[in-house]
Amino acid sequence: MVWRCKQWKRRWVILDEEALYYVHDIDKPTLITNCMLATVREADTASEIQFGFEVLSPNRRTYLLQAENEIEMQEWIGAIRDCTEKLITGLSQESKSSEDSASGAIPSEDIVNIQKANPVCADCASSNPEWASINLGVLLCIECSGIHRSLGVHVSKVRSLTLDSWTPASIALLKDLGNDAANKVWEAELGKCGDWSRPKAKSSRSEKERFIKAKYIDKKFVGGIGTDLSLDEAAATGNTKELMRHIVHGNVDKYEDAEKDTPLHLAVTNGHATCSEMLLQNNGKKFLPQKNNLGMTPAELARQPDVFGVLSTFAA
Ligand SMILES: [Zn+2]
Repeated sequence: MVWRCKQWKRRWVILDEEALYYVHDIDKPTLITNCMLATVREADTASEIQFGFEVLSPNRRTYLLQAENEIEMQEWIGAIRDCTEKLITGLSQESKSSEDSASGAIPSEDIVNIQKANPVCADCASSNPEWASINLGVLLCIECSGIHRSLGVHVSKVRSLTLDSWTPASIALLKDLGNDAANKVWEAELGKCGDWSRPKAKSSRSEKERFIKAKYIDKKFVGGIGTDLSLDEAAATGNTKELMRHIVHGNVDKYEDAEKDTPLHLAVTNGHATCSEMLLQNNGKKFLPQKNNLGMTPAELARQPDVFGVLSTFAA
């Protein structure tokens, strides 16, 4: 299908299962936008563009496109909306099936409390953030959430506070950690990095992207470990903030396999559901098959009658 875009050049545009691209070189389509957070609508009639429609990307850039005729325009609008819906539904189903059958919308009272505790985006201080990273335990504005999504789920798992399904354990993690506690780890030494500062709400997307990559990929501002507790001790005592330090410093990734209790075993045995969730969301799934000196995996331990409050984290 051929479209015209804003500069009124004819372009081939393709839509796959998650994003819209335009194509100069068939081997290298150029991303226009991921459909997850995109909005599509007919162009304003005042624009006098026949068969025109607009795609609003998560970074608030608007692409004005023109189809060949009315039917094609409606087909494209319908296809992009279907794509968005499938991506959002798919995420909800994925979290339902893989994490917890009890997942659902966050209760509105919890949303109010979470937003009250985190009134601005963790990365750019835009007010009223409505997105979250469930593994990092922070609230984000829509633009920063788009940047987080582009980093990949191994770095940040983005969910909408209002549109997505949440597990009780993920909600508890967000309530327990939050922007201030997370930033104390991720930005511990930001003040000492002379040429860096947190971007502002009005900063450009590229400035925000540069900062977010420096913060979460390069870990430029984390400094030293800043805790006397070991990874095992943090997990065993349910200390989510200290556990986060170990996660940020890569100590879960470096953890050596041994026939003993892993941090996940320790969190489970001591009934710390939030720490269990934090580990599972941050590369701690590698502990799931590991057996301790009693020959038990963390999930087997969680099913013991004297371990309370952790089982839902392991529900199939
Ligand atoms: Zn932001």
